[in-house]
Amino acid sequence: MNEIILFKYGEIALKGLNKNVFEDILLRNIRWRMRDLGPMRLRKAQSTIYLEPENPDAFDFDEALDRASKIFGVAAVSRALVVEKSMEAICAAAPKYLEPLLSGVQTFKVETRRSDKRFPLKSPGISAETGGALLDAFPHLKVDVHEPDVIVNVEIRDFAAYIHAGSIPGAGGMPVSSSGRALLLISGGLDSPVAAYMMAKRGLALSAIHFQSPPYTSERALQKVETLCEKLTPYTGSIRFYCVPFTELQEAIREHCPEELFTVIMRRMMMRVATLVAAREDIRALVTGESLAQVASQTLDALYCTDNSTDLVVLRPLIGMDKTEIIKIAYQIDTYETSILPYEDCCTVFTPRHPRTKPKLHFIEKAEASFDFEPLIRQAAENTTVKTIH
Ligand code: ATP
Ligand code: MG
Repeated sequence: MNEIILFKYGEIALKGLNKNVFEDILLRNIRWRMRDLGPMRLRKAQSTIYLEPENPDAFDFDEALDRASKIFGVAAVSRALVVEKSMEAICAAAPKYLEPLLSGVQTFKVETRRSDKRFPLKSPGISAETGGALLDAFPHLKVDVHEPDVIVNVEIRDFAAYIHAGSIPGAGGMPVSSSGRALLLISGGLDSPVAAYMMAKRGLALSAIHFQSPPYTSERALQKVETLCEKLTPYTGSIRFYCVPFTELQEAIREHCPEELFTVIMRRMMMRVATLVAAREDIRALVTGESLAQVASQTLDALYCTDNSTDLVVLRPLIGMDKTEIIKIAYQIDTYETSILPYEDCCTVFTPRHPRTKPKLHFIEKAEASFDFEPLIRQAAENTTVKTIH
């Protein structure tokens, strides 16, 4: 049976002259995500990408569809049968192909899209003939145009005709890397993986940076963050993962700065190290999982002080979201269970008893001036390790 997968575009379809660029990025992303599923051909035409396995009978369609549903830039995905462009072929193939599905339902209707306008019969005629063939083959079925159990789709396109019984929703958004690349500050918590998902959805490829404070934080805590990155890759593609040794900087902050300013100063140090690491990849934006008012370091005043430590654009996709909304997405992208594992994070180790919720920038700058942090910042960036997570 000659089956294929059709990827229909979302927003890309609305792009003008540079639509081609977006399509090519999407095509490349699909090829990469499907790379180990066997030989296949990918091509684009009429706002659709066609995935044609070389050996459809041995192809794992379920796995491919699961992966397809996580690729940004796709509005809908269908598994379809390829047939010759003639009514005889369509009417002969549809009952056989759809039998497993139609034998278990009561009602259906046929919808036709005829993008090849040279096809002699118009859409209503194609739907009527195909419907007739299905009624002949399955006498128990009835047509219901308003609320059918199944919608049978016939698409007459350039290369062939396609039959399928509906689409699964795609992940939406823009193809990853069509908007460039950003550096995600990832902790082991719930928020930053969700932030990664949301920015990847808008077409950003991601590198990730994690600050680790051994011996206060353990190897297991680091492993947890790497697992989170692995869980993100079906959505984000490969992630370049940077790990920063942060202990010395944290100890210096603890020693030289007032306790109630600790968190916001630490956040500023993270931003500075991240800014140096971002420069290596010519990255202009950082992504964090901060949400307004969630904790003391995420008040407007604290965010102002944090932003002041970097020239890069700081993207905070969760800024207006409630924890319950964030958790819902964490479940959906399967990071929740990993995020709630109770390993310590470098932030929790040094949490002040009474963090300042309205820090003033000039106090912070004064506190930071009491010690030369610059060499430690540079050293942390230099000693950062990197690996790619697929
Ligand atoms: P999360 O659930 O993502 O840990 P959180 O609500 O615990 O967030 P904070 O601990 O204040 O909030 O961290 C705010 C943001 O700072 C995180 O979302 C993340 O982007 C960044 N961050 C915090 N800790 C680290 C870390 N150890 N390494 C890298 N980034 C971090
Ligand atoms: Mg955290």
